Amino acid sequence: MLVVMQEGAAESHIQKVIDRLVSMGFIVHRSSGVLHTVLGGVGPVNDFDPIEFEVMAGVKECHRIVSPYKLASRHFRPGGTVIKIGDVEIGGSQVIVMAGPCSVENRDQIEQAAEAVAGDGAKVIRGGAFKPRSSPYSFQGLGEDGLRMLREAADRHGLLVVSEVMEQAQIPLLLNYADILQVGARNMQNYNLLRQLGEVRKPILLKRGISATIEELLLSAEYIMSGGNYDVMLCERGIRTFETSTRNTMDISAIPVVKSLSHLPIIADPSHGTGRRDKVLPMARAAVAAGADGLLIEVHHDPDRALSDGAQSLHPAQFTELMGQLRTIAKAVDRSI
Ligand code: PEP
Ligand code: MN
Repeated sequence: MLVVMQEGAAESHIQKVIDRLVSMGFIVHRSSGVLHTVLGGVGPVNDFDPIEFEVMAGVKECHRIVSPYKLASRHFRPGGTVIKIGDVEIGGSQVIVMAGPCSVENRDQIEQAAEAVAGDGAKVIRGGAFKPRSSPYSFQGLGEDGLRMLREAADRHGLLVVSEVMEQAQIPLLLNYADILQVGARNMQNYNLLRQLGEVRKPILLKRGISATIEELLLSAEYIMSGGNYDVMLCERGIRTFETSTRNTMDISAIPVVKSLSHLPIIADPSHGTGRRDKVLPMARAAVAAGADGLLIEVHHDPDRALSDGAQSLHPAQFTELMGQLRTIAKAVDRSI
């Protein structure tokens, strides 16, 4: 249930509503927007009449949220969420590009990637140090050494870092090196991991599972948010369908659908979404046109020799081309890059 307070409601009135919600058995999440404070009461309490709250001093309106996710629902923050990391804002008017190799492979590789993507205007470098590979015999990532190299390269080029966390035990390590913790498609429904990430106070990039519905994605975000970490960005990275021409089917329609159902920023990953470098650029353009708040793009200086996902990794020159084209698209939809 959601209680929207009147503009400029007194703190004492807000507190009275919180106390009432708590006494009824709700857990209360507070969102302070520019104009209104919104109080989200979550919990298995159904036996209440919204009018009881509507008549309280300082209350503007009260609604039952019918969707199974509450905090991730657009109603909780109608104005949208902007995640601020230093001077980078994700969910604002600028489309934020996160780019870099699939995996951190060595110091030279990650340095070349950082230099290339920073030079073209990316704000965040990506690179996995813990890799969820389909085969146990494939390269599994460099672990902490990889994270250290990634951080050092990012710092040399003024970039933020996003990197994947695969299990709870890795969280402290990721917190030491990364600005954004990525939950991969395979872990979207690892509820223990999601709950733990609710306790951390760094933004989470939550990727859509390969066969997850949008509702399931939003419920996974709800797991994180119910722990008090509201800085969650969602990521459309393609879903598995009957189509075999591409590695996955990039669900561009998920972008506007998520935008209307949720206030959380949505990032598009056309690299995993298509699995082919020749299809990354058109899908990136489509994603920005459809309203994506950011892009996650794999870039490698020598993709044919990449240790993972080479076929979908752009050459640096292709990334330069992509950024140039995206500037035009962004402008057409009143955004910048
Ligand atoms: C990745 O970002 O390299 C990755 C493994 O992504 P996903 O979880 O979407 O497959
Ligand atoms: Mn990859």
